[in-house]
Amino acid sequence: MKAVVIEPGSVLGVLGGGQLGAMFTMAARRLEYHVAVWDPDPEAPAHHFATHSFPASFSDRHILARFADLVSVVTYEWENIPAEICRALEQRRPVRPSSAVLSVIQDRLEQKAFLASNGFPVPPFACMTAPDQLATTVQQVGYPALCKTTTAGYDGKGQWRIRRESDVREVERALSESARPGMRWIVESLIPFERELSILVVRGADGQSCTYPLAENEHEEGILRTTMVPASGFTAMAERAAVLGRQVVDRLEGVGVFCLELFQLPSGELLINEIAPRPHNSGHYTLDACSVSQFEQQVRAICGMPLGEVRLLSPAVMVNLIGDSAAIFMKKGVGCRTLLDIPGAVLHLYGKREIRPRRKMGHVTFLGETLSLALDHAKQFRDGLANGSTLPD
Ligand code: ADP
Ligand code: MG
Repeated sequence: MKAVVIEPGSVLGVLGGGQLGAMFTMAARRLEYHVAVWDPDPEAPAHHFATHSFPASFSDRHILARFADLVSVVTYEWENIPAEICRALEQRRPVRPSSAVLSVIQDRLEQKAFLASNGFPVPPFACMTAPDQLATTVQQVGYPALCKTTTAGYDGKGQWRIRRESDVREVERALSESARPGMRWIVESLIPFERELSILVVRGADGQSCTYPLAENEHEEGILRTTMVPASGFTAMAERAAVLGRQVVDRLEGVGVFCLELFQLPSGELLINEIAPRPHNSGHYTLDACSVSQFEQQVRAICGMPLGEVRLLSPAVMVNLIGDSAAIFMKKGVGCRTLLDIPGAVLHLYGKREIRPRRKMGHVTFLGETLSLALDHAKQFRDGLANGSTLPD
């Protein structure tokens, strides 16, 4: 099937203007596309790089009409935007990935049911529709378990651990406090994984696809802290992850960039934790360590351009700057320069004015001749960040 090509000079529409939207916009501008950014927050980073900026509510029908008039294709930077906007825009313009894909992915239960029903490996899970069903639902998957809101969670938000039966009452109370009408929860078995991995899959409108190297991720409190590429270990596992990634995105008929978050079990088996229908934090290393970044691939894929060859130019370790740990970079003083002096460091700040706990403010990528050298430098950096208060301003 030959896909329609959207040529440079056209306007690309992106819903959501956080750092992912900003990096998409920069990649598109470099290829001489124009970008219309729609995000209700006027301070959202992507607005600064946009040709057309729509700081308006997603429920504004006039903006919807103007946005659709202006753009040749629509994409989104995260899955928690209202699917009905994508459905409405799809009446006028291609939306990539499609609103159907978004609907499956943005609901954790729909997503897991889709994966399980297609034979893809996922942790055992069960559904509940009221907080007082917690005890019986956990029994279906066993202790320890994890309860998650089916929609709107991210960076570990909207999740509760239930290690043993005695935790049930407290979690039930927390669920009741945050419950809204019609809400559902998914309860998953808490997987004793050996490590977390992720793989980026890019798929064009013609069905061609490519994958990036397997990445190894470390999370703290549900937030990604560090990504290491290439993941150490077996080539066979990387190949299995790539095949799995391609199969999932093919089955979804997804067009764009996708990321599969994976759990590696002690047996070597891989389970799919979740799918992101967009570039992913664990793929930020591609900006500095690959010939074509995940954001350029997003532009190419949604525009029907040839996908870029995936070439890892250097081993890389990406360290997120989260909450207060970014303060030293916001001051841009000697402390910041001391950290940037560490070999291989490449700094990306997202232009967010306000530091908030758990907020992603930027990241630093360490490139090295070997992964072990990059890891040493990343460790030096993280130790420096942890001692931030002793560094000069
Ligand atoms: P988010 O959308 O917040 O990224 P995730 O489902 O990926 O939600 O959960 C965040 C993190 O919580 C994961 O990266 C992993 O570290 C942990 N986690 C999530 N689900 C499970 C599970 N079933 N078993 C073990 N750990 C889990
Ligand atoms: Mg996740």
